[in-house]
Amino acid sequence: MHTYFDETIEKSDRASLRDLQSRKLITLFRKVYKHSQFYHRKWKSAGVIDSGQVQSMEDCLQLPLTTKSELVQDQEESPPFGTNLCIPVNNCVRMHQTSGTTGKPLRLLDTSESWDWWLKCWAFVYKGAGVSADDRIYMAFSFGPFIGFWSAYEAAEKIGALTIPGGGLQTKARLQAIIDNEATVLVCTPTYALRLAEVAAEHKIDIANSSIKKVICAGEPGANIPSTKKRIEDCWGAKCFDHTGMTEVGAIGFECESQPVGIHLIESEFLIEVIDPKTEKPLSEGEKGELVITNLGRYSMPVFRYRTGDLVKLNFTPCDCGRTFVRADGGILGRADDMFVVRGINVFPSAIENIVRNCPHVEEFRMEIFKEREMNEINIKLELNPSVQLPDVISRIAQSIVDDLQTLLLLTANTTIVPCGSLPRFDMKAKRCVICD
Ligand SMILES: [Zn+2]
Repeated sequence: MHTYFDETIEKSDRASLRDLQSRKLITLFRKVYKHSQFYHRKWKSAGVIDSGQVQSMEDCLQLPLTTKSELVQDQEESPPFGTNLCIPVNNCVRMHQTSGTTGKPLRLLDTSESWDWWLKCWAFVYKGAGVSADDRIYMAFSFGPFIGFWSAYEAAEKIGALTIPGGGLQTKARLQAIIDNEATVLVCTPTYALRLAEVAAEHKIDIANSSIKKVICAGEPGANIPSTKKRIEDCWGAKCFDHTGMTEVGAIGFECESQPVGIHLIESEFLIEVIDPKTEKPLSEGEKGELVITNLGRYSMPVFRYRTGDLVKLNFTPCDCGRTFVRADGGILGRADDMFVVRGINVFPSAIENIVRNCPHVEEFRMEIFKEREMNEINIKLELNPSVQLPDVISRIAQSIVDDLQTLLLLTANTTIVPCGSLPRFDMKAKRCVICD
């Protein structure tokens, strides 16, 4: 039995969905053209000198793409919030910023109307995972300047669920709060879902038989990597759901209960395009490319044809859940910019993670890319479970990972076993792939 936030829209036929997007897109274009100095300048230099030149979705799709660096540069030139504002700052009620993992942070403002739109998108996520008013949602998160999981926290109210904040607490105290409050849903990054499990094991807290039935993961890839997802599900005795969103765009996609099918993209709220990251030409269904998004309801600081840098593969075939929203098969497949080349082989960190996490003895790991004779080489540092002690068992485990990387990815890698607890642990986005000079 599937649950929906807006069943009519989620099951509407593709033509009606396209109509809805088209109407929202033109309305957005006119508002943005009139009020956003950033886009007005950008479009004018692309030859749009009158808003009447853009009358349809097809016309909108001819407008130039937007990159994050343009928005960051705009804020640098006009601090602190830049010129991509359609509403005066004094009408805004929320400020969040990007984590700055790929450069300078970008500040984003929302009016109460835009913020309400964010929450609506999260309500799709919750309902997709079958979360209801009967649930108690634990937010294992620090509530800093980043969007995650402020929007998840407040959106829970939209579906009538009880939220339990976990900010400002150590990992063990969070585990205790989950048990004491009989939380049924855990919202956190995939890395932190595993970190909680690790600390639970140290303190002999039985989370596999706890009240948690669902884990919704966001903030980084992980819940879409099969072996990481399985590990989260095994540790927690719960179903794990992937969610994808970006501070500068919105809560874009969610996993429904018919998994494993990838994530549905909320097409009533976002216009989705997939392009070849090099040529910027549109790709067809099933071709892997960069996700380009226009958010259709965030009027305060919208993005128009925004290059997310995320690689996806779209699938329009009907989903068992009945939704017609397109799916991104396998979720976010990687970043257009995080691919690296080792001995001529294109490698994505997520593909390596899938293999390393598949080994049940690995507790934590780190990929180090370094140059040797002008060539990229990779070394994977492995932290094994303390129960693994015998030297020949340790070397067999390391060799099996080397063999799997060679067989499945054609990647020649070295491994180093490091002491338990020596690699960094993360509460938010993990940084497991490091480029060494
Ligand atoms: Zn579905």
